[in-house]
Amino acid sequence: MASLGDCSVKVALRIRPQMAKEKIEGCHVCTMVTPGEPQVLLGKDKAFTYDFVFDIDSEQHQIYQDCVHRLIEGCFEGYNATVFAYGQTGSGKTYTMGTGFDVNLGPEDKGIISRAVHQLFEGIQNRRLRSQEAGTQPPEFKVSAQFLELYNEEILDLFDATRDAESRNRKSNIKIHEDSSGSIYTTGVTSRLVHSEEELLQCLKLGALSRTTASTQMNATSSRSHAIFTIHLCQIRVCKELQMNGEAENGEVNGVDSGPIAQPEFETLMAKFHFVDLAGSERLKRTGATGERAREGISINCGLLALGNVISALGDQTKKGGHVPYRDSKLSRLLQDSLGGNSRTVMIACVSPSDRDFMETLNTLKYANRAR
Ligand code: ADP
Ligand code: MG
Repeated sequence: MASLGDCSVKVALRIRPQMAKEKIEGCHVCTMVTPGEPQVLLGKDKAFTYDFVFDIDSEQHQIYQDCVHRLIEGCFEGYNATVFAYGQTGSGKTYTMGTGFDVNLGPEDKGIISRAVHQLFEGIQNRRLRSQEAGTQPPEFKVSAQFLELYNEEILDLFDATRDAESRNRKSNIKIHEDSSGSIYTTGVTSRLVHSEEELLQCLKLGALSRTTASTQMNATSSRSHAIFTIHLCQIRVCKELQMNGEAENGEVNGVDSGPIAQPEFETLMAKFHFVDLAGSERLKRTGATGERAREGISINCGLLALGNVISALGDQTKKGGHVPYRDSKLSRLLQDSLGGNSRTVMIACVSPSDRDFMETLNTLKYANRAR
């Protein structure tokens, strides 16, 4: 893997608006954003600074433009990327990611994933048109998607239509592997090949629905599991340098002549984009957290804790080249080659503005601060 120094981890804080219920019940706003600075003040004296801070009135498109847009551009150059939404249940993670598919939401409420999918297919179209205009060999693109849910260190496949109530209770045979170049891949996971924005969004929607159903059958709520939506982009294009000095025009197309001389004319770029709606970060209440619940709480926290440790190790320049504890949870293991290395990561910490959530908000601010 590339050196850790190249990695880029950015942290954004998003404060959702107060809900009607919170206003009716007389909750006060306890967060204040410093004008013109990416800084938030919690209560009177707890100040935190991040790469970006989005206040109550910020809109979906702003968050997308500032945090995610350049990551999709990077995918076209072969860089992996990951966007996380972290925070307590009800803080706006699913709204921000856009996997809720709430019928009451308008087009301006579209979340990160829909916008990213749009930018991706627009980018593919533009690259095809550009090469058409230039009279060069157009690049070939393949887009596929996977949708996994992590619950109690168990991986579920949200695209597996054959899953029934019984098989859900059995252990899945999904495995995480690492190849000799350090790339992470999974076996036993459904991969959907898609050809358009609409097709990809339809997949996402069905997977999101399956997530709710699966959770209900497991007697849990989706707030206790991590959802990981992954887009794979494979691009075969004429090598940039050859394109510039015109040699490519005489080259064999699609490797008809697969001799060693013809090979360097094309390059294959692979990139992965993970969108992660993390489990609620709230602490388990002391009461009632026994047996199954407690076990659940432990493994959720194990995933979030491991993720925090990995991101913190990556961001810490003094630990450059040092140990990054990817193997401590399935979540960090699955994302290993998309955190650090040459990949780009954005963590969006979501919080409530209401004083009733003060302690959970403080916990989230601290967690996000460690990630910087
Ligand atoms: P989480 O996924 O963290 O549990 P949700 O995304 O489901 O939280 O958000 C809880 C509620 O607040 C939802 O009804 C959602 O539509 C609403 N909400 C969250 N963030 C915003 C926002 N920035 N603007 C408007 N409504 C929001
Ligand atoms: Mg949610």
